[in-house]
Amino acid sequence: MRSPSIRCDVVIQVRDDLRAMDGYHSAQVDVDVRLNTNESPVPPPDGFRDAVAAEVSRVEWHRYPDRAATALRAAIAEMHDVDPAQIFVANGSNEVLQTILLAYAGPGRTVATFEPTYQMHAQIARVTGATVVEGERAADFSLDPDEVDRIIDAHDPHVVFLTSPNNPTGLVEPPERVQQLLDRATGLVVVDEAYAQFADWSALDLVSEERPLVVTRTFSKTWSMAGARLGYLIGPTWLVSELEKVVLPYHLDAVKQIAGRLALRYIGDMNERVQQLVAERSRISDAMGAMAIDVFPSGANFVLFRPQAADGKTVWQGLVDRSVLVRDCSSWPRLANCLRVTVGTPAENDAFLTALDATLSTLT
Ligand code: PMP
Repeated sequence: MRSPSIRCDVVIQVRDDLRAMDGYHSAQVDVDVRLNTNESPVPPPDGFRDAVAAEVSRVEWHRYPDRAATALRAAIAEMHDVDPAQIFVANGSNEVLQTILLAYAGPGRTVATFEPTYQMHAQIARVTGATVVEGERAADFSLDPDEVDRIIDAHDPHVVFLTSPNNPTGLVEPPERVQQLLDRATGLVVVDEAYAQFADWSALDLVSEERPLVVTRTFSKTWSMAGARLGYLIGPTWLVSELEKVVLPYHLDAVKQIAGRLALRYIGDMNERVQQLVAERSRISDAMGAMAIDVFPSGANFVLFRPQAADGKTVWQGLVDRSVLVRDCSSWPRLANCLRVTVGTPAENDAFLTALDATLSTLT
């Protein structure tokens, strides 16, 4: 019988620039209430599932899918009132971001982020071999226009990211900040709008053939489809053509193309879910505000908060002990003591608030 232990005689070294890098980690803990990854707390409507099942039963499994995802892109384009040639689709907005960075970053190029922000922007940029420059947000996580100018003038980045609403802070970038980047930067401006439906404005109206601007979106949050892995961008047609050269052939499977297209028929249900989450976001922010907690304003489906008199990591553990999982940001640079809670169903939010109150009362 073979030994169960793995023996490897040859270990080859990974690329020098990858050796010191950490992967992206988000704790997966078995708890009753999972409020750590900003998913929708409820599934899409039953009608959607039935419609997908009916169409999937007609999939030609032995054939490659439509490489251009024609019907899906047409449906997304119709929703945004743009040309289908302005839409690029991929497996989650993470793959959209990766494709952008494979095409426009890479060795010898520079990518700018304003920290703290979504970690995958810098992570994927580094994996492509690009140099990342990190601008700093103010103590309240807003972005000072002088800092934007400083980064652009000093580094002239090939790609610059804004996330609006920003993850994990929740802050919506003001339109002036996007405009400032468009006026000042010579490279590509990417506005990551994974949470845009929860906010009060979008950079979508600024997209045109004349501007190096793309807006990325996802089906993972408002559309309740994190399990499907589907995201897209809206940008100039010349840029979408470049991305099509980079992405692997037939990267988007037939089932996903069907699911994405059919989901858009339920936009009314999606908007209803968003309204409920926005109302719950206010409720939990107010309730936390009445505790010994700093609560940051949010335009997304999550809230960043900081216990005033207790250690963030200890509070996180106290919540886990009460079967509630939130995101522990307390050891991230610039986010000392901070935790982030995803807005869940009213019952989940009640469970979170009760567990938080109980945890804090044992610690303070
Ligand atoms: N952008 C932001 C700002 C996010 O928070 C996330 C998910 N956490 C993503 C992109 C990636 O989303 P997905 O790949 O599921 O579309």
